[in-house]
Amino acid sequence: MKCYDWRILKDSFNVANNTEANPDNLATLTRNNHNISRKSISEAALKVLYRLTNSGFRACLVGGGVRDLLLGMQPKDFDVATDATPDQVNSLFRNSRIIGRRFRLVHIRFGREIIEVATFRSHSSDSPKNELNTEGRILRDNTFGAIEDDAIRRDFTANALYYDIANFSILDYTNGLKDLENRTLRLIGDAEIRYQEDPVRMLRAIRFSAKLDFEIEKLSSEAIFNCGHLLAGVPPARLFDEIVKLFHSGNATRVFELLRSYNLLQYLFPALDQLLRNDPSEAMLDFVDQGLVNTDKRINNNQHVSPAFIFAILLWPVVHAQAMGLSDKLRIIPALSQAGSEVMSRQLRHISIPRRFSQMTRDIWTAQPKFQRTQGKQPARLLGHPCFRAAFDFMCIQSMVSLIPGNLCQWWTDYQKNQPLANPGLRKREPGNQHRRRKRNAD
Ligand code: ATP
Ligand code: MG
Repeated sequence: MKCYDWRILKDSFNVANNTEANPDNLATLTRNNHNISRKSISEAALKVLYRLTNSGFRACLVGGGVRDLLLGMQPKDFDVATDATPDQVNSLFRNSRIIGRRFRLVHIRFGREIIEVATFRSHSSDSPKNELNTEGRILRDNTFGAIEDDAIRRDFTANALYYDIANFSILDYTNGLKDLENRTLRLIGDAEIRYQEDPVRMLRAIRFSAKLDFEIEKLSSEAIFNCGHLLAGVPPARLFDEIVKLFHSGNATRVFELLRSYNLLQYLFPALDQLLRNDPSEAMLDFVDQGLVNTDKRINNNQHVSPAFIFAILLWPVVHAQAMGLSDKLRIIPALSQAGSEVMSRQLRHISIPRRFSQMTRDIWTAQPKFQRTQGKQPARLLGHPCFRAAFDFMCIQSMVSLIPGNLCQWWTDYQKNQPLANPGLRKREPGNQHRRRKRNAD
């Protein structure tokens, strides 16, 4: 189900009739011709916008906040663009800090919400403050510029729309409104050059296409096939962040399909890609699919998800096959442990998974045979393991696709119901518990 109503967009603005174009290539949609109201913008973002303008700076909402509001969707976060420098922004907000080397940005924290403030930057590759590597990848980009420069250095036209707090109008320098109306994701400028500058834009194209149900425009789409290999040069820590965003977007199944159809899986999960090319079992394919469906459901129900679970799902076909190959020499748990360590250390060359997650991923794998032990003290011991909940969900997905006997999931579900004190997560909610939970959510 898509969470936006396309009619809102259609009714709320009509690009052709309502925009006012001027010679700077700027089309403006005035307050009465679009659906963004200040009520739909977070208080924190409004505070930032107003303090900047009251201090004599220009300030606009930009990026996903504007795009999603125009589409009638709830934005994930709000980004602000301004002509104040990072130091000026920093000195206006006590709750702020400057981050980033490649791009200097300011994060302003309001409780759990962070407003990201970026200074208008230009996209000139010959500026001394910009640095490219030999493949054309931008290493640093800190040349400040005017708002119209800032618009064209952004990735997609739909992400380059500004909501100007000075007069509540939408500013469009790249034909983004038209693309939004046509549900098209289009890179600004020459697609291959833009992917060379930052190969992560290919993953962003896939994430936004899956999330918004937008088609990737032909040139932006074709260039992915030519530039995919550039992902190998992206720092593995940045790829970790991007992988989590992709698979925790609430559209992981579609993301996975797109990664495969654009031949990008080989640069992110090479062992999985190889296995999928070698005619894997239907059950394993179903398992990965169901694992992603489960993640999407949890995200869309606001339930907790861990990156460890995603890596556990995506690497399981490889770990399982490798452990089977070791099973004539080793018992199942040591075989899984050895296979898990080997698969994980090869994977870490591509995506750097923080240790707390990679350890949990391995624990989920080695817990699997333990679910077969339903006698004596073994179940209680497994129930007390910190990764029990994730390992249990993982086991139920295996059970659902018949990789293990079907009734195990039911057995463990019943077992947990009968152990209320051992597993507070499943305990019936008492008034005291409800209170604790609310309080935790509130801070
Ligand atoms: P969401 O927050 O929903 O994931 P978003 O579009 O706001 O989507 P952010 O990562 O928050 O994405 O980035 C904010 C804006 O910064 C983008 O909309 C885009 O204009 C710009 N941007 C982010 N990453 C890049 C990039 N790699 N290249 C060019 N512009 C970028
Ligand atoms: Mg954003």
